[in-house]
Amino acid sequence: MPGEDAIDWRVALPPGFRWPTGVRAAACFTFDVDAESPILFEHPEAAAWLDVMTHQAYGARTGIARLLRMLDRRGIRATFFIPGYTAERWPAICRSIRDAGHEIAHHGYLHEGAHGASAAEQERRLLRGLEALDSVLGVRPVGYRGPMWELTYETPSILARHGFRYDSGLMDADHPYLLATSPEPGAATLVELPGHWALDDWEPYNYLPGITGSGVISSPDELVARWTLELEALVEDGGLFMLTNHPFVSGRASRAVALERLIEHAQSIDGLWVATAAEIAAHVETLGLEPVVHRPVELPRP
Ligand SMILES: [Zn+2]
Repeated sequence: MPGEDAIDWRVALPPGFRWPTGVRAAACFTFDVDAESPILFEHPEAAAWLDVMTHQAYGARTGIARLLRMLDRRGIRATFFIPGYTAERWPAICRSIRDAGHEIAHHGYLHEGAHGASAAEQERRLLRGLEALDSVLGVRPVGYRGPMWELTYETPSILARHGFRYDSGLMDADHPYLLATSPEPGAATLVELPGHWALDDWEPYNYLPGITGSGVISSPDELVARWTLELEALVEDGGLFMLTNHPFVSGRASRAVALERLIEHAQSIDGLWVATAAEIAAHVETLGLEPVVHRPVELPRP
């Protein structure tokens, strides 16, 4: 690409990047508290379907409490990305998440994907989510994860304008980076904490006939073995293991047990920092990194 600097491929760590003293890699355990919201956004007709609504309510009614007990046993703080609608519909369990000391971050209002949405529409949804998290939980989040991992080129500047410090979900790196919110010189920045579909429990576990999933449901043993390989490989490269689980999916009994095993393993790795997304973002802000500029992709002429 024109203007790109020469790349030193011999080192895994990006230029200027380092972890806090004594740390060689980080792991962040996150939970997207989607509950009914993605189904209501994509399939509003399902609001009348008791079976589907109870499937989505499993986290709020059962899974979150189990996961909070598990995180308490492991003595770690996690990051919970909560759509505003979930906070309004399930206020008591969302307050339990807050009161257990976990970080609460933004995940849309009704889990609206950003593809095809104007900047104004994205901003309206962001504000509605902020209002819900404030009125139900009294929380002003510093972090955002796009529902369905979706962002447009306008999303980062909207986030920066409303005081967000980090986004989590772009998929182009193993390490956190500083994200320029536009190609303009001097544009505001956010910290980006990348994720990936392979470190998300939705695809391997989740099945709702006619709505999502292939019907092939992974074994918790098999899935945690896959995640463990990625964790150990990222530790070797000094990266960030950003894991995304959904309480209605991984709050189920044997899945929560397997996830606890993975967390226990992470805690046994020397020099691995288990932290919330906000803690990792706050560290990255201190590094003075050169921002990464994502220029809109131009389609080639036919
Ligand atoms: Zn989600």
